[in-house]
Amino acid sequence: MIIDLISDTVTRPTPGMMEAMMHAKVGDDVFNMDPTVNALQEKAAAMFGMEDALFFPSGTMANQAAIKIHTQPGDLLFCDKYAHVYNYESGGAAFHSGVTCKLIDGTRGMFTAAQLEEVTAGSPQIYLPYAKLVCIENTTNKGGGACWDFSELEKIQKITQERELAFHLDGARLFNALVEKKETPQQYGQLFDTISICFSKGLGAPIGSILLGSKKHIEKALRIRKLFGGGMRQVGFLAAACDYALDHQVARLAEDHQKAKEIGAVLETVSYVTKVETIETNIVIFYVDAAIGDDNFIQRMKAQNILLTPMGEGKIRIVTHLDYTNAMHAVLLDALRNFQ
Ligand SMILES: *Cc1c(COP(=O)(O)O)cnc(C)c1O
Repeated sequence: MIIDLISDTVTRPTPGMMEAMMHAKVGDDVFNMDPTVNALQEKAAAMFGMEDALFFPSGTMANQAAIKIHTQPGDLLFCDKYAHVYNYESGGAAFHSGVTCKLIDGTRGMFTAAQLEEVTAGSPQIYLPYAKLVCIENTTNKGGGACWDFSELEKIQKITQERELAFHLDGARLFNALVEKKETPQQYGQLFDTISICFSKGLGAPIGSILLGSKKHIEKALRIRKLFGGGMRQVGFLAAACDYALDHQVARLAEDHQKAKEIGAVLETVSYVTKVETIETNIVIFYVDAAIGDDNFIQRMKAQNILLTPMGEGKIRIVTHLDYTNAMHAVLLDALRNFQ
């Protein structure tokens, strides 16, 4: 038995999801003729109370399309120093859109309205890049699955409106935040110009993301997706998996969060762990004693068929997910308790 906790992207489609995929009605989506894709887009847009939505092969492409929609080469975007759009998208903001990222020194991937106020202060100058966009991430990935405080996001939205900045949410794991904080998609739809969500993380689909926004933004996104090489054909088979995930695999995220908290509770009790970051959702980040070392710890867990991932700066990450069973959970907790 391999216990793969590297990411919540390692899941395989459930039998119910497979069934839904097998029976999907499909057509050529480049010609807008895939009924399953069209239905998923309409469903997601309605769910968030946004005008329109577009299906993407990856969260990276959806985020990068959003950046391109909101900026021109030479412009500036603001994001946290931990942001996925800055750290883990291959430098796409510079490559695709020719924009600079101004990094904000937040906490666990989240900055405050006061911090944004400070970095956006002052009037435009000919020698400064034009500030155009604020990107935030909920939950934060490198921040350990932390959730934003909604009232802080409302304050940030106010600043973006005052300064005429677009506001994008990288919501790869937004559903984890919604379930944990008992918030609604509608609330988020009212705050942002564009939102990306992923079906391939905790929701358990094999592939798929959606970008939400106004009719005008999604019209631009359609062209950009094609330009990026992301126009897809009979992709309703995959949209069916995403639709199934929305109907059947959202509420269960609470189980992943519960397991993550139980893992954290064990890590708090063992002497070789120096720090466990606060666990809010399905990501656990912890540090082991320097005498053991993070790489060594990961290797020794691997020898027991337990796969974890290093996040740099001595951080070790565990991500719980749909395919992490109760039996695996018991084995992991024992392995963590007995490690020496
Ligand atoms: C996974 C992830 C993405 C998108 O990743 P893809 O692998 O391209 O789908 C974007 N943002 C965050 C925070 C993520 O965790």
